Amino acid sequence: MNISVQPIPAFNDNYIWCLIHNSNAWVVDPGCAQSVRAFINEHRLTLKGVLVTHHHADHTGGIEELKHSFSNLTVIGPQSANITGLTTIVSDQQHIDLSGLPLELTVVALPGHTLDHIGYYNEQMLFCGDTLFSGGCGRLFEGTPLQLHNSLQRLTQLPNATKVYCTHEYTCANLRFAVMVEPDNQQLLDYQQQCIDKRAQSQPTLPSSIEVEKAINPFLRCDQNSVRTSLERHSQHSLVDNVSRFAALRSWKDNA
Ligand SMILES: [Zn+2]
Repeated sequence: MNISVQPIPAFNDNYIWCLIHNSNAWVVDPGCAQSVRAFINEHRLTLKGVLVTHHHADHTGGIEELKHSFSNLTVIGPQSANITGLTTIVSDQQHIDLSGLPLELTVVALPGHTLDHIGYYNEQMLFCGDTLFSGGCGRLFEGTPLQLHNSLQRLTQLPNATKVYCTHEYTCANLRFAVMVEPDNQQLLDYQQQCIDKRAQSQPTLPSSIEVEKAINPFLRCDQNSVRTSLERHSQHSLVDNVSRFAALRSWKDNA
C-alpha cells in the first residue's frame, strides 16, 4: 500500500501517528497542533485529515488550531458531547476512506477507558488510542471492567500481524507490572529486554502487534493459568470468570 506511519512525539509520552502517502498526510489524535504543524512543514506534507479516538484533551487539544492552519481539513471522530470540531461522526463497523491516501479503515467501538472511545483498523494497522497499550491497557475512567474487557477481546480477533499503534510510550512501565504478574513468561522477559534497549537508544517501542500483545500483555491473558494463579494469590480469593479476573488485574495495576 506504500503508506508510511510515523510517530510525532508530543507532551511527555504521547505519539501523534502520522499516515503518509506521497505528500498527503493524516494524523491520529492531535493533542498538540504545534508538534503536528512542525512535522508537516519539515516534511513538506499536506495535512488532509484527522482521526480522533476519544475526547481526552491530550488527543483532541490541537483540532481547532489545525483547522485554522489547514483549509478543508476533514476531522473524523465518535459521537461525543466532549469533542468539538469534528466534520464527520462515525460509529462501529463503519468504513471510512482517507482522502489522499489509498487506504480504507474500519471503525471499532471500544468503550471502557471512556464511553466515546473508538479505534480504526484494517488488516495491517490498528489505531487504538488509550484502549490497548503495549503490555497494558487504558485506565477505566468512564466505562465498566466488562466494557473494557470486551473491547480488548474484540481487538484480539484482528489478524496476528496487525501492527498496534498506541498513543502513549508506556511500554516499559507496563512491562514491569506484567513481569510481576507472569514472572515465568519467557517471551515477556525477552520482549521487556528489547523494549529497554530501544528506549536506551531513544527509539519508540511502538508499533507492537496483535501477536506480541496476545503473548505478553496480561490484560489479554486473563484466561491463562499463569495469570489466574497470580491474581488469586494477590487478591486472596478465587475469581470465577475472565471479567472478574480482568477487573482484579486492572485494580492491582492501579494500586501497584
Ligand atoms: Zn485517554
